[in-house]
Amino acid sequence: MKLTTKIKRCKKCTELAQSRRQVVIGDGPIPCPIVFLGEAPGRREDETGIPFYGVAGDILEASAFKAQLQRGKHYHILNVLKCRPPENRDPTICEMKNCIPFLIAQLEVVKPKVIVAFGRYAQAFILGESPNNISVLKNMGRIINNPKFYAILSCHPAYIGRNRGGELEKAFKQHIHTAARIAKGAKPKCVVQNAPY
Ligand code: SF4
Repeated sequence: MKLTTKIKRCKKCTELAQSRRQVVIGDGPIPCPIVFLGEAPGRREDETGIPFYGVAGDILEASAFKAQLQRGKHYHILNVLKCRPPENRDPTICEMKNCIPFLIAQLEVVKPKVIVAFGRYAQAFILGESPNNISVLKNMGRIINNPKFYAILSCHPAYIGRNRGGELEKAFKQHIHTAARIAKGAKPKCVVQNAPY
């Protein structure tokens, strides 16, 4: 069975499988040198089936455009969870464990050179840690050298939407620029840690 069919039919997380409207698989070319990785679908994504739809998506697209990256052409968008947690509650550890094998399988197909991890749950995946141990802002800008790709730890564009115009937004945009440079072959200067996933 094709990976996308498997994901669409998945009911491993009973609550999410009952409450979701759509399974949000991902968006972008395959293969693709850049992956932007978020947490889980929100209300609009659940309605449309499109990841990063709405305010967070607009912020991401505008920031990427400044780095000469166009949606649908230069980057692929994925989430750690493919189904929306009801009322936008945080994903549970069990839901993450259920869905991460799909994410790993997707990354094996997309084959990114660089992943930008947006927020606590994406950072937790990259570092192989519990989200409870993640300090998103402390990790901002760290570049991880995974055997298969580089990963830049950043915050979620939805958080930027609530904190416009400051140093945080500047840093977020810089992370997107760095990803664009890595995708073109640049070697990042500050690789500070090795991590499996
Ligand atoms: S979140 Fe992932 S593992 Fe859970 S039901 Fe949806 S597709 Fe399956």
